[in-house]
Amino acid sequence: MTTSVFRDQLYIGGAWVPPDSSERIPVENPYTEEVFGHVPAGTAEDVNLAVSAARQALDSWAVMPPAERGAALGRLHQALAARADEIAHTVGLELGTPLKIAKAIQAGLPLTVLAGYAELAARPVTEETIGNSLVVHEPVGVVGAITPWNYPLHQVVAKVGAALAAGCTVVLKPSELTPLVAYLLADAAHESGLPAGVLNLVTGTGPEVGAAIAGHPDIDMVSFTGSTATGRAISHAAADRIARVSLELGGKSANVILEDADLVKAVKVGVGNAFLNSGQTCTAWTRMLVHRSHYDEAVELAAKTAAGYTVGDPFDPATRLGPLASAGQRERVRGFVERASARLVAGGLDAPVPATGHFVAPTVFADVDPGSELAQEEIFGPVLSIIPFGDDDEAVAIANDSRYGLAGAVWGSDERALAVARRIRTGAVDVNGGAFNPFAPFGGYKQSGIGRELGAYGLAEFQQVKAIQR
Ligand code: NAD
Repeated sequence: MTTSVFRDQLYIGGAWVPPDSSERIPVENPYTEEVFGHVPAGTAEDVNLAVSAARQALDSWAVMPPAERGAALGRLHQALAARADEIAHTVGLELGTPLKIAKAIQAGLPLTVLAGYAELAARPVTEETIGNSLVVHEPVGVVGAITPWNYPLHQVVAKVGAALAAGCTVVLKPSELTPLVAYLLADAAHESGLPAGVLNLVTGTGPEVGAAIAGHPDIDMVSFTGSTATGRAISHAAADRIARVSLELGGKSANVILEDADLVKAVKVGVGNAFLNSGQTCTAWTRMLVHRSHYDEAVELAAKTAAGYTVGDPFDPATRLGPLASAGQRERVRGFVERASARLVAGGLDAPVPATGHFVAPTVFADVDPGSELAQEEIFGPVLSIIPFGDDDEAVAIANDSRYGLAGAVWGSDERALAVARRIRTGAVDVNGGAFNPFAPFGGYKQSGIGRELGAYGLAEFQQVKAIQR
C-alpha cells in the first residue's frame, strides 16, 4: 500500500476540479513525524462553487423516489466498501490509529453506518394525518458538513449518509489534520455514479473554508462535529441567517462502578474505553467513579492494565496505543498531566515512549478532585482520572457535575445500574458493557451538543416537517 498521498483537486459538481489557490496543506504522519501528503488549501471561492453545485443538484435529488435514492447510496456503499483496506491504512497513516482498531472502527463502522442509511433511504416515505392536516417530511436543503480528525471517516459518513438519505445535498469540509480519507469517499462517489453536485468536497482550514461554510447565505444547515469552542463560533455565524445547526461536541464521560459491579470487567473495559484511539474519543469514559469498598483494588487494577499497554508503531500488530494526532495535541495533553495535582499511579510524563511520534504514555491518576481541571476538562489523550464515591446518589452527583453530557457507563446489578443510568444526564449510557449501537441516536446533553446523529434519528435532523391543511 502507498505511503504517500498528494491530492491537488477538489470534488465539486461531480468532477475533480483545480482549487482556487495553489496553496497546499501538508499532512503529517504522527508516528514518523514526516509529511507524507497534502491537500488543497481551499478558499471561500471554492466554497461558493461547491454550494452552487449542491444547490443545483438539490431539486432532483430531493424528489428522487426512495428506492432510487436508496440504490444510489447502496452503490456508494459498495464502492466505499471496496476501499476498506485503503481506508484503514490511510487513517493509520494520517491519524496513527493502530491498524487492527482502524480496520474495525475507522473503516468498519462508517461502512456499517452508510449501509444503514442506504436502507433507510430506500424505505417508502411515511406521511401522517393529524386532524385536517397532512404532515410531510422534506429535506432541509443544502448542508454544510464540518468534521474533526479523531474518527475522520465515521464522522463524515454520520453526516453525509444521513443528509443524502434525507434528500439533502452536501458540501463537506473534513479536518485539515486528517483530510485524506475523505478523498476515498469522494472517489467512491465518483466511481459509483452519484449524481453530480450531491456530494462536494472542499478541503481547507477552519477559519477559511469552515467559516465560509458556517456563514454561507445559501447553506440551509450546518452539521458540525468538533470542539465546543468551534461549535459556539459556528452557531454564532449560522444565527445571523437563522440557519439550522446540529452540533456534536466534546465530552467528559463518567464510568460509574457501583458496589455490586463485576469489578474486574468494569475496570478493564473502562480503561480500554478511556484509551481507545489514544484517548482521542469524544465519548471516552475519562472519569472512573468507583465505590469506596472497591476503590483501592480498582486503582491497582487500572494502573496495572494501563502499564500493560503496548505503545508504538500503528502498523505493528502488537500495538494497542498509537501516537496522538499532532504535536500540538501532545503538548496540550502533556500540559494537563503536568498541572495535575492528583496521585499518579501509571504513566505520566517520565514514562518511556518511542523516540519519534507524538506519544503520551497511558496515564492514570487516582484521588482526583471532581472539581479539578483533570476531572472537568476534555483532555483528549490517554489520561484516566479515578474518583471514589460513597453511595449511588453521590455517584450520580459526581457523574452529572460536568458541563458536558455526551456518554457514560454504569456497572452493577442490572436493575440498580439501569436506575443509575436513567439519572445520568448524557445522550448515551452503557450498562454492564452494553455494546455501541451504530443505529441508536447519538449526541449530547448540555455543552456536548444539539441534535442527534446515526440511524433514523440522525436522518430526521436533516428533514423539515410541513403541515398541509385540507
Ligand atoms: P475543532 O473544533 O478544532 O475542529 C473541527 C472542525 O472544525 C475542523 O474541520 C476544523 O477545521 C473546523 N473549524 C475550526 N475552526 C473553525 C471555524 N472558526 N469555523 C468553522 N469551522 C472551523 O476540533 P478538532 O480539534 O478537530 O476535534 C477535537 C474535538 O472534537 C474534541 O473536543 C472532541 O471532543 C470533539 N469531538 C466531538 C465528537 C462528537 O461526536 N460529539 C466527535 C469527535 C470529536
